Amino acid sequence: MDSSRSHYPWYFFWRFTRLNLVLFLLIYAALVLSVPGHTSAFSVLIGAGFFLSCFTFYLITRPIKRLLGRVESIIGHDLPFREQLKLFYVKDEWAHIEAALKDADTKLRMQLKTIQDENSKFTTLLGSISNEILAVDANQNVLFFNPRFESSFLADKEKLQTGGKLWSVLDVAEARDVFETVLSTKVPQKLRGFKVKTQNEIRYYSIAVSPIFGENALIKGAVGVFSDITEVKLTEQMRADFVANVSHEIRTPLTSIKGFSQVLKSQQSKLPLELHDFIDRILHNTERMIALFNDLLNLSVIESKNQVEITRVDLDRMIEQIHASSRGIFPTKTVHLTCKLEIPEIQADEKLFYQLLNNLFENALKYGSEKIEITLTSQQVDQKILITFSDNGPGIPREHLSRIFERFYRVDHSRDRETGGTGLGLAIVKHIIMKHQGEIEAMSDGVKGTSFRITLPA
Ligand code: ADP
Repeated sequence: MDSSRSHYPWYFFWRFTRLNLVLFLLIYAALVLSVPGHTSAFSVLIGAGFFLSCFTFYLITRPIKRLLGRVESIIGHDLPFREQLKLFYVKDEWAHIEAALKDADTKLRMQLKTIQDENSKFTTLLGSISNEILAVDANQNVLFFNPRFESSFLADKEKLQTGGKLWSVLDVAEARDVFETVLSTKVPQKLRGFKVKTQNEIRYYSIAVSPIFGENALIKGAVGVFSDITEVKLTEQMRADFVANVSHEIRTPLTSIKGFSQVLKSQQSKLPLELHDFIDRILHNTERMIALFNDLLNLSVIESKNQVEITRVDLDRMIEQIHASSRGIFPTKTVHLTCKLEIPEIQADEKLFYQLLNNLFENALKYGSEKIEITLTSQQVDQKILITFSDNGPGIPREHLSRIFERFYRVDHSRDRETGGTGLGLAIVKHIIMKHQGEIEAMSDGVKGTSFRITLPA
């Protein structure tokens, strides 16, 4: 057999066999020389002993192969399988294994050190981040949270360890729902402005939860980053309160100016002719300012609402009411209303939704010609309700479409001022939709007709 090609540990076995053969031959020679006449009996005895010892050694050698395989996989390279057979080995198989294990031990220690270093960097990083961080596995068991999370959410609780369930560290159901949604849909989710009550105060947070993926894109868990938005929320509230107070304070004198102007108007025959125009202007501008402050007040009330009162809203009945009341405001215009409502009833805040449809309706009448066509449709698409409100008015040029929901944004200042709008109608619409967790977009070719597409959660 070519020993250079024999597969380790077989040449280990062959070496032993060779040594065995020498030993048994020596024993045989000693026996034959010391006890003559029993040559054949000794031959059988020594032959059997030799084969028995070889077979035993074969059985011992076999598991070594597996052991060597393991060692190779630890050290990451092959052991010297194909060495020439030498009678005396400076470095035998066991020495190779020992060296390999020593090498593996050094590598493992280095890897352990690297992991410990990485771990301490990660812990320092988590500790220094000013956001609250919480990670859970796919079964909602807590994997880790940072010290900031502990001080913000767990200060009132007994010391909690990781490994508990999500509900044991997070009391807020809305925030837990976000984690559940991410774990079931594998899609990142956000939630803004949820309330957290601690022993002494109420704070507001936003949360962004992202999935953690393992091998084969399997979801392993989710990690949530919280942001404390209490200051922002309080500032928003202060701003809304300020606008509400100012609007209220200004509306009172304006109403009185309007009242006196109306008295003057009724008595205008007693006044010089050149003052008639002034009275009309005072009246017109007072009305505009009252409308402006009404809209500002409405907007701040909507903004400051934490929750909307959801009830069943009959779209058909609502649009008919708006249509009927519009006749008094725009007596010269005729409206042809078409309703294609696959979903006749939706879940929404009735008052707010009335205001929303009313604003869209008024705009259609304000900016449309004498014969106005309005179409209202509703349908369910996947898990959403889609409502469209379209008119046959002059349309809105494309470049303005993304900005018309901003406060005081007007497409054509001179034209729009004549129509008596405040520039807040669509901002109010947008805020109402946002309070319903929905979205709105405007579509128009800028030549004829505008469509507003509202998407609400089903
Ligand atoms: P306003 O109260 O002045 O009507 P909005 O916020 O309601 O303000 O609308 C913003 C601008 O969008 C308006 O100035 C107008 O130019 C345009 N707009 C809104 N609705 C329509 C519509 N149905 N048709 C044409 N233009 C519209």
